[in-house]
Amino acid sequence: MAEHPRTLNRPADSTGSRRGFFGVFRYSRRALDLVWTTSRPLTIGLALLTVLAGVLPAAIAYVGALIVDAVVMAMQTHAPGSSRQVIELVALEGLLVAVTAGAQRGLSTCQSLLRAQLGQRVNAMILEKALTLDLSQFEDSEFYDKLTRARREASSRPLSLVMRTFGLAQNAVSLVSFGTLLVQFSPWAVAVLLLAGLPAFLAEAKFSGDAFRLFRWRSPETRMQLYLETVIAREDHAKEVKLFGLGPLLLDRYRNIFHKLYKEDRDLTIRRDSWGFGLGLIGTLALYGAYGWIALTTIAGRITLGQMTMYLMLFRQGQSAVSASLSAVGGMYEDNLYLSTLYEYLETPVAPPRGAESKGPHPEDGIRFEHVSFTYPDADKPALEDITLHIRPGESLALVGENGSGKTTLIKLLTRLYHPTSGRILLDGRDLEEWDEAALRQRVGVIFQDFARYQLRVGENVGAGDVRHFEDEARWREAGDKGMATPFVDTLPQGYGTQLGKWFKEGRELSGGQWQKIALARAFMRSQADILVLDEPTAAMDAGAEAQIFEHFRNLTSNRIAILISHRFSTVRMADQIIVIRDGHIIERGSHEELMHLDGHYAHLFKLQAKGYR
Ligand code: ADP
Repeated sequence: MAEHPRTLNRPADSTGSRRGFFGVFRYSRRALDLVWTTSRPLTIGLALLTVLAGVLPAAIAYVGALIVDAVVMAMQTHAPGSSRQVIELVALEGLLVAVTAGAQRGLSTCQSLLRAQLGQRVNAMILEKALTLDLSQFEDSEFYDKLTRARREASSRPLSLVMRTFGLAQNAVSLVSFGTLLVQFSPWAVAVLLLAGLPAFLAEAKFSGDAFRLFRWRSPETRMQLYLETVIAREDHAKEVKLFGLGPLLLDRYRNIFHKLYKEDRDLTIRRDSWGFGLGLIGTLALYGAYGWIALTTIAGRITLGQMTMYLMLFRQGQSAVSASLSAVGGMYEDNLYLSTLYEYLETPVAPPRGAESKGPHPEDGIRFEHVSFTYPDADKPALEDITLHIRPGESLALVGENGSGKTTLIKLLTRLYHPTSGRILLDGRDLEEWDEAALRQRVGVIFQDFARYQLRVGENVGAGDVRHFEDEARWREAGDKGMATPFVDTLPQGYGTQLGKWFKEGRELSGGQWQKIALARAFMRSQADILVLDEPTAAMDAGAEAQIFEHFRNLTSNRIAILISHRFSTVRMADQIIVIRDGHIIERGSHEELMHLDGHYAHLFKLQAKGYR
């Protein structure tokens, strides 16, 4: 595996953690907001139950003290009715305990319901954002990292953050109520209670930060692991993985990544827990110090036996509330860091919508490239350089060139998936950048060589070409006829209603050539599109079928623009204009006859292929 650019992530981490350290509550507000807008009734229920669950323990401790004192009193005085009073108090405590249990249940019910709603909402937000992104962002590995991280972790974090915030509030309410009772014994006791938990908290915060940094740095490895899982376990790769015997090799890689990550995890876990134990001892020490102190005070007769039980209980429970609050804060710190990746992703700037024009001043002009150059982000050399060309409506253009010469890139520029680094592209005499996105998309029907094979119904695969008619059966058929798909579709068990793909029960698989016919039909769904682009979609068909489709395509596209990328000269020669691209430059252009006459690169390739057929 190539060494991934871990270092790239580092600077961002250190600032992220620093900001995070001081901003334990930074995202709490936003998380709360998210939860609040997801379900108000549940949030209110959660808040009320939190307060209730917060005050009850102190009330229980208080009643407990009353019971002990009442018992002691009754034993000493045997006054009439004293037993009854004791029983009443016991019943009251029982009632309070029952209410506590009810509050806890209620809390967990609200939590479960919110978790489901919130998980769905955050995932939908992530996907919604994905729809607004540029192709270049999807192809950018660092950005892809962000997306993966957001999807993997962050969808469960908002609720976790809110729950911890509420948990913190609950413990704080408890602590205040404990404190009010305990301060009567001694303000020092309250101070000891609070301070003893501090060291453990600091350690917790530090290790949470470490864990998060670890998670970030190794996100390329995690991504590779995820990818390997996909390759090994998915049907579309299974064929090659089996035949090439790749399985064990890939699995080995998968294991190696795990071992490397596991080692780091183990080290961190061990360090975290050793420190946690050591510092936790301070708390125990404080508890038993206070125990002794309270016991001695009771012996001295300054407090009653009932008070002693109460203070001990307060101290013990107070301490667990302190450590729960502190670990909640540690957890919140961690949630915040993770949430920061979610918001980092959600706030990725997207390009503002470009132009708003839906028409050009010279519809008869067609498409023009004027000195267009383009370099992919992070590439060191341009994929296209100084491309100038002109296609009028009614004309067809074929692009010829070796793999990697820049043909697909040219189409990506024409469809505005990418933008020229210099030069400009005009449609109907108007710069492409000035066109309204939707208007432009309607004009162009394109099928890329790696067109998508949706595991949906056959008809929907065709309908995908025009979302307005995604489910329109009549149009599926019409487009299917044009793409020459209908004859084989009719042989499928449910025709256009047949489910495709192995993910689903009874999903059918199609051959490469059949898929291409579906893809062609998809292109023909855009009945209003007057620019049709075929980027090698017919490679899996035989030469005869390809020529027939192109012929068909040209008839359908009279007065339209047809652009074809193909390695088959039998088809290419039918185009009005042929452009030969090499290393991002146009090296020859003209009709088939002109280029043959020129006797250059095109003629050479043509003869080479012709020889193969002879
Ligand atoms: P063709 O369609 O002629 O086979 P392409 O237009 O796909 O060639 O590719 C032209 C050049 O641009 C190649 O050198 C390729 O490596 C590079 N390239 C293609 N896509 C990308 C991308 N998304 N990011 C960076 N470089 C790319």
